[in-house]
Amino acid sequence: MTQFRALLMQADGRPEVTEIDDDRLPAGDVTVDVEYSTLNYKDGLIVTRQWDAVKRWPHVAGIDFAGTVTASDDPRHAVGDKVVLTGWRVGEMHWGGYATRARVKGDWLVALPKGLSTRDAMALGTAGFTAMLAVMALEDHGLTEGEVLVTGASGGVGSVAVALLAALGHTVVASSGREAVNDYLLGLGATRIVSRADLAEPPARPVDHEQWAGCIDSVGGMTLARVLTQMRYGTSVAAVGLASGAELSTTVLPFLLRGMNLLGIDSVMCPVPLRQRAWDRIAQDMPMDKIRQTVTEVGLGDVPDLAEAILKGGVRGRTVVNVTA
Ligand code: NDP
Repeated sequence: MTQFRALLMQADGRPEVTEIDDDRLPAGDVTVDVEYSTLNYKDGLIVTRQWDAVKRWPHVAGIDFAGTVTASDDPRHAVGDKVVLTGWRVGEMHWGGYATRARVKGDWLVALPKGLSTRDAMALGTAGFTAMLAVMALEDHGLTEGEVLVTGASGGVGSVAVALLAALGHTVVASSGREAVNDYLLGLGATRIVSRADLAEPPARPVDHEQWAGCIDSVGGMTLARVLTQMRYGTSVAAVGLASGAELSTTVLPFLLRGMNLLGIDSVMCPVPLRQRAWDRIAQDMPMDKIRQTVTEVGLGDVPDLAEAILKGGVRGRTVVNVTA
């Protein structure tokens, strides 16, 4: 019997790095030796138990991972293949990426596109994949010239969205609550920064001055309500997250008077063809040199503290977890 290392969560107490026997891995048809996972907002909620997603204990969190197939009953994934996993409630309902080994359904895995390393795949991870889905949704709804707003810009989704939109030639305006990150956001390709506080006030009127040609919003709440009133005619907001809250207080007027769209982005149960299309676009268009600059690499033992920090908006860019370190 071989063993693997995992950040094991018990029903109570602090998660601890522990050696675990292979036979405790959950059922699945593909076994992967995990190289990298990441820390996302959702991981923060799960690891700190602020979200009641985990039903079976003990648990291994980590909503995404990349690694190498070491055993497979699925003809699509051969031993030695590099694969990436995001979503499918892995890390919530099923043991996830905070371990050196994972066993999952072959359906959940995507073959790593050529040119992307496992570290690059996790430099993007769920956040980067979601940013790509959001950009594709805006494009599918006719993203045109003009300023594109990214809220929660210094976060994981926001940082990748800023870099990606800029690389695609769009004029990007980044909204952030931290002045200290202004240079970082300009370096990613933002043309100017607006303060998070300016967008967090309740809307002045049902429809306001037309400003944005598109928006990727990872904040939700009052920010989203305000942004909806500022969209140009016929444009779209891709709603990704709820870092400032799940409530949305708005009127139908921006939709009726501005013919605008509110596009929901779901990376978790995203269908396989769209998933593959997004990873192919990532391999083609993602400015990996810029994305690598956003990465902080940590080990499994660092995750509990960082999980608390990310929920307070205290993590910048992408946090990659090197599970073998
Ligand atoms: P991060 O914590 O990395 O980024 C969130 C950013 O939002 C922060 O960096 C901060 O940016 C801003 N922020 C934090 N708290 C507040 C607040 N109270 N009010 C306003 N802004 C705030 O998280 P991720 O980028 O990983 O995820 C962002 C959101 O997207 C989360 O809600 C997450 O659950 C969701 N998500 C959804 C997915 C989907 O499939 N739909 C997939 C992935 C994530 P700044 O300081 O620059 O303002």
